[in-house]
Amino acid sequence: MITFLKEAVASEQIAADNGRVAQTVRGILDDVRVRGDAAVRDHSARFDDWTPAAFRLTAGQIDEIVARVPRQVIEDIEWVQAQVRAFAERQRASITDFEVETLPGVRLGQRNLPVRAVGAYVPGGRYPLTASAHMTIVTAKVAGVSRVAACTPPIRGEVPAATVAAMHLAGADEIHLLGGVQAMAALAIGTESMERVDMIAGPGNAYVAEAKRQLFGEVGIDLFAGPTEILVIADDAADPFVVAVDLLSQAEHGPDSPAVLVTTSEQVARRAMAHVERLLGDMPTRDFAAPAWRDHGQVLVVDDLDEAFAVADTFASEHVQVLTREPRQALEKMHDYGALFLGEGTCVSYGDKVIGTNHVLPTRGSARFTGGLWVGKYLKTVTYQEVTDPEASAMLGEVCGRAARVELFEGHARSGDVRAAKYRGGALPW
Ligand code: NAD
Repeated sequence: MITFLKEAVASEQIAADNGRVAQTVRGILDDVRVRGDAAVRDHSARFDDWTPAAFRLTAGQIDEIVARVPRQVIEDIEWVQAQVRAFAERQRASITDFEVETLPGVRLGQRNLPVRAVGAYVPGGRYPLTASAHMTIVTAKVAGVSRVAACTPPIRGEVPAATVAAMHLAGADEIHLLGGVQAMAALAIGTESMERVDMIAGPGNAYVAEAKRQLFGEVGIDLFAGPTEILVIADDAADPFVVAVDLLSQAEHGPDSPAVLVTTSEQVARRAMAHVERLLGDMPTRDFAAPAWRDHGQVLVVDDLDEAFAVADTFASEHVQVLTREPRQALEKMHDYGALFLGEGTCVSYGDKVIGTNHVLPTRGSARFTGGLWVGKYLKTVTYQEVTDPEASAMLGEVCGRAARVELFEGHARSGDVRAAKYRGGALPW
């Protein structure tokens, strides 16, 4: 049985907000399609108050910005990028090309080829999300992407210097100080000053995520990675203070970030809720975290851990923090999540900032059908085939002729017939 100690705002309100966002995004994309750079410039002025002479940074500008970043920040960026690179390289090694002989003289193969050009989006409307540069750009480079055009918005008119440094150190081939829907449009559609890319990747707010959704098909996308979500599973051994701190660590992303607690202990739930209220009192980021908790926070008390895992699966949350006596049970019992954080020793913030797994993860239930960003998202799995034995080709030709005629495809059938006749020496049936 589930008891709700705290519920989120009605789903109709969320649906109405999503509808408004979709309409705004469609308008901006259409405008960029028609007016190119002029539209990009107008929307950058409107939403970010940002109209530099050129959005793309020159090599000289990049060097000057990187030189402003404190040494310790640079060293930490390099250290974290090494963690992300190491995990991504292990992922790349797990993806193999192969060739198999399925019949004598019939060879079928598979290759994994990197997408040629990627637009890597690094969010920055509210916070300089420096770590997203590691996640999108380092991973693309490990995959072998030859052109990475990276975009990030200015923050209240300021150049986000640490983010630019992270983009540069990650290996971005181009850095554009441009954000939001106008950045996604320029990358995907192309303008006078931006060569279009083959795929766009990276997280963002509801507008950025919706832009990717609407552009999909015209350009590849990694996944739907919108406003951050956290779900904490706690048993009666969990520390309510840690539960509260971890819930708020993700609620601070923005006022539309859901934070959910599913627990077997009403006592842990009530204590954690009290800690949340107290912590929000003087949290520097409470302007985002407080409305997120008020409107999208949920607390559910369940009978046992099996029910907790089952309920958590129905949320298909981006991040699931497991604060139980045996956290690895979640590996067996859960199926729908972006990433699991097992035990009190780790937390979503480690995943976001330092540990090395990718923090670009599925939101709004899309964890039902996709995992997060990884090297494989930047690769196209393509196949090839070759038949070197004439007898094998003739046999395939005969089956092909019959199979194609079942579907009334005479042209297809004849490609089979011609080989069967040529290699077996028979007459053509037409
Ligand atoms: P952002 O870069 O995603 O968006 C900022 C841009 O939004 C601005 O440049 C502006 O052009 C545009 N914008 C703002 N208001 C608009 C409006 N009313 N209409 C049209 N465009 C508008 O930065 P952000 O806003 O700080 O959001 C970052 C988001 O990324 C957060 O929601 C965070 O939770 C999310 N995130 C998700 C993941 C993930 O993997 N799912 C990871 C990290 C961050």
